[in-house]
Amino acid sequence: MECLPAFWMDMRRNEMAKQFDVIVIGAGPGGYTAALKATEFGLKVAVIETKKIGGTCVNRGCIPTKALLYASGMFRMMQNCDEFGVSTDFISFDFQKMQSYKKKAVDRYRGSVEGLFEKNHVEVIYGKGTLRRGRTVEVELAEGGREFFEGKTVILAAGAVPMMNEIPGADLPGVWNSDRLLAAKSWNFDRLTIMGGGVIAVEFATLFNNLCSNVTIVEKKKHLMAPMDDVMSTALERVLRRKGIQVYCDSTVTELSQGENGLNCVITPNKGGEPIRTRAGQVLMAIGRKPNVQGLCGPDVSLEMKNGKIAVSPGFETSEPGVYAIGDVCADIQLAHVAAAQGTYVVEKIAGRPHTIRLQSVPSGMYVSLPIVPNCIYTDPEIATVGLTEEEAGLRGLKVRCGHFSMEENGRSIISGEQDGFIRLVFEAYSNTIVGAQMMCPRATDMIGEIATAIANGLTAEQMSFAMRAQPTYNEGIGAAIEDALRKA
Ligand code: FAD
Repeated sequence: MECLPAFWMDMRRNEMAKQFDVIVIGAGPGGYTAALKATEFGLKVAVIETKKIGGTCVNRGCIPTKALLYASGMFRMMQNCDEFGVSTDFISFDFQKMQSYKKKAVDRYRGSVEGLFEKNHVEVIYGKGTLRRGRTVEVELAEGGREFFEGKTVILAAGAVPMMNEIPGADLPGVWNSDRLLAAKSWNFDRLTIMGGGVIAVEFATLFNNLCSNVTIVEKKKHLMAPMDDVMSTALERVLRRKGIQVYCDSTVTELSQGENGLNCVITPNKGGEPIRTRAGQVLMAIGRKPNVQGLCGPDVSLEMKNGKIAVSPGFETSEPGVYAIGDVCADIQLAHVAAAQGTYVVEKIAGRPHTIRLQSVPSGMYVSLPIVPNCIYTDPEIATVGLTEEEAGLRGLKVRCGHFSMEENGRSIISGEQDGFIRLVFEAYSNTIVGAQMMCPRATDMIGEIATAIANGLTAEQMSFAMRAQPTYNEGIGAAIEDALRKA
C-alpha cells in the first residue's frame, strides 16, 4: 500500500476505515469526559490511547500527587499529635507502602472510568493515534499492526508532557521529572532541589518537606506561583520558609554536575551577584509542561499552531474543519477540570445541545468577562483562587471592594490548630457582585467551589449572605469576609 500514489492510498484507507461519530485521541480528563458525554447523546464513540485510561491526571498527576500529599500530611500531623492529647511512642513512614496506597487510589479511579467506558459502549483502541486527511485517524496498534478509523468529528485531547531544561548536567541520573518521581520505588530524597516554582513544584516541596527531606526551590520569576498576585505568593513563600524549605526566587539553576555525595547545583541570581552553590541528592525539574503534539498529525495534515499549542477557535475547532482540540494540548490553563469542561462544551456543540457549562461569565450589567476556573494548590495551608484579584480588576478598569477575614479567629481553625491563613473576597464596588476570591486556609480547595458558583451566577454580597454557614466550619470564614465587605459598602 505504501508505494501507491497518495490519492489511491487515501481511497484504500477510507474503504478500510471503521466509521464513528466521534473519535477522541487521548483518554485523559478532557478525552474521557468528551467521550462519555458523546455517548449520553447517542453518538458512536472511539477513544484512542497510547498509555492508560485517565491520562496524566489519573496516572501521573492530580490523583497520585494528592494521594501522596495526604499520606505525607498524615505523617506530619502525627508528629504534632501530642498537642491534641494523643501520644504514640514511635512514628515512621514506609515510602513503599505509601506508594502502594497511592497505586490503589489511582487504580480505583482509573477502574471507575474504564467501567463507565464499558457501560456506555465506548470503543477503546490502545495505540498511537495520528490525524490524517479527511478526519481519518491512523492508529499504530499497541498489539502490533496499523488500522484506520474515520470520524464525523475528531477531538484531539493528547495532553502535555514535562519540559526539560537544556542546562549542563540536565541529563545526569539524579535529575527527575514529575512522572519519574511519582513512580519512585524507594525514598531517596534527603536533599531535593526543585527547579521551578509553579504548582507542581510547591506541591512536591510540601510532600517531601512532610517526609523530612531538605528541600530547596529555585524559581526564575520574582515570586512563586506566577501569575498569582503578590499577596498570595508572598504569603506562600513565608509559609514554606517557616517549614524549613529554602526558597530562591529571581534565580536560575544554571549548572548541575556530579559530585562525590550527590549533585552540585549552581544557582545564579538573575540580577547578577555571586552564584550560590548547593548540594542535592536529587533534582526535580518542574519547569512547565508542553503540548504533546509530536507525531499527532500525519504528513497530509497541517494544523495551525500558536506558541507551540494547537490553535483553536473560541469553540475549540482547529484549522481543520470538524477537528477539535481540548485540554493541555491547546489550553492556556493546564488543569484537569478545564480539559473536562472544554470536552463537555465541544460535545454539546457538535450534538447541537444547549451548553450546560460556562467557561467564563459576564454578570448582568457588567462589561468585564470573569474567569470562573478554580485554581487549587494543595500546600499546607491550601491555596485556592477564582476570578479576579483586586489588582487584575483594576487593570480591567473595574472598581472593587474587598472583604477580608483572618482565619486566626475562625472556630474550626482554632480547634484544629490551623489558624494560619485568610480569605479575601473581591466585589464590584457599585453592584456588590462577586468577581473573585483568594483563600489560603484549610479546605480552601473545597470551599472555592462556593465562590465559583457565585461568580458563574452573578451573585451579590447580599445574596451570598442569605445562606447560613454551619458552626464551627472553615466555611464560616467566607460568611465573615462577606460581612466585612458589606460593612465597607
Ligand atoms: P492528559 O491528561 O495529559 O491526557 C492525554 C492522554 O493522551 C494521555 O493519556 C496520553 O497517553 C494520550 N495520548 C497522547 N498522544 C496520544 C496519541 N497520539 N495517541 C493516543 N493517545 C495519546 N490538574 C488539576 O486540575 N488539579 C491537580 O491537582 C493537578 N495536579 C497535577 C500534578 C502533576 C504532577 C501534573 C503533571 C499535572 C497535574 N495537573 C493537575 C494537570 C492535569 O493533570 C492536566 O491538566 C490534565 O491531565 C490535562 O488533561 P488532558 O485530557 O488535556 O490531557
